[in-house]
Amino acid sequence: MKAQAIQAFEARFGTTPEYIIRSPGRVNLIGEHTDYNDGFVLPMAIDRAIWLAIQKREDQNVVLHSLVFPDDLAFSLQDLQYNKGWGKYVSGVAWALQQEGYPTFGWEGVLLSDIPIGAGLSSSAALEMAAAKAFSIIGDWTFDRLKMAKIGQRTENEWVGANTGIMDQTIAVSGQAGHALLIDCRDLSTQQVRLPDHVSVVILDSSTRHSHTDSGYNVRREECETAARFFGASHLRDVTLKDFVLRSADLGDAPRRRARHVITENERVLLAVSALSEGNVIEMGKLMNESHASMRDDFEITIEEIDLLADLAQSETGCLGARLTGGGFGGCVVALVENQSVEQFTKNVQFTYAQRTGLEAKGYVCQPANGVEVIPFNL
Ligand code: ADP
Ligand code: MG
Repeated sequence: MKAQAIQAFEARFGTTPEYIIRSPGRVNLIGEHTDYNDGFVLPMAIDRAIWLAIQKREDQNVVLHSLVFPDDLAFSLQDLQYNKGWGKYVSGVAWALQQEGYPTFGWEGVLLSDIPIGAGLSSSAALEMAAAKAFSIIGDWTFDRLKMAKIGQRTENEWVGANTGIMDQTIAVSGQAGHALLIDCRDLSTQQVRLPDHVSVVILDSSTRHSHTDSGYNVRREECETAARFFGASHLRDVTLKDFVLRSADLGDAPRRRARHVITENERVLLAVSALSEGNVIEMGKLMNESHASMRDDFEITIEEIDLLADLAQSETGCLGARLTGGGFGGCVVALVENQSVEQFTKNVQFTYAQRTGLEAKGYVCQPANGVEVIPFNL
């Protein structure tokens, strides 16, 4: 990818780029719909990334050519306008930086990527953090990881108009090769959690996208708020399983089951961290399976194809566990698989899934990778 980035830049600008930036996608291993309940998540940055090759410009313009999309991006930093296409993630970061008082200067470059778009691997946060990194090196100011994650979230919330949490940007800036990252969504404190070398993370894309993802998401948020209010808590994070068992009988059926998912899922994330710290991948897999069941039965965010894909994955030799990852109503399943079984695992699941649904399940075997970084030329 790096050689390709340099080549594409040279073809476009006739010189070598000044900087090359790599910004990864991510997958969440466990902890779904816990973020807005002030709970815990355990994502990892993956070895699929957006690459930016750039150089400084003498004016106040940003000019960018994406190898993925046909239309180029060009805008002035002195007069930021909302762009309809993919450029909104870059202009939005410039806007959020200016709002926070960071100096922004012009640059130009090319962008390539091997993160599938819209699959839930967070290509958008990768693009935002790549852009933020570009502004920081061109502007010669320090890239403060948490502040930049917030810039990315503000871009999504206030410029793009997507009501997303801060997990994607946090992992995009703080990922560390070989590790997943525990994020406490209440205070944004983090802890690196080593993943054993003999297992791989395999992402299987169900090829289903549900049209009412957004409304489903909003309904779940409201149900969680209702449940938290019932327990007299600001967030479900503060309700213990014991409280839940003692007091939930009078709560309506839906909010009760939504609450049970969130409360048990938070516990599972912390148990997963302990399991991985001890190298206990069997326990980790079991927790992933339980997480899937909880999303299917209590949180009700899975659909038939996703349940099938998770079932097929879970019953394969060498698969330690598998679950829906992402917001739900379609999207991807993430599986933890023994290295030596990965090939056969992927082939078998894809074959049966295609037979049963007529759909192709693309598979991405991923390793935990670093967060956004400037890549030296001589590596
Ligand atoms: P996800 O973040 O799950 O991949 P989103 O819909 O949030 O899906 O973000 C995808 C959008 O991010 C794309 O539609 C595009 O606007 C932008 N994007 C992602 N990758 C690239 C790329 N390589 N070049 C240009 N824009 C990209
Ligand atoms: Mg996104």
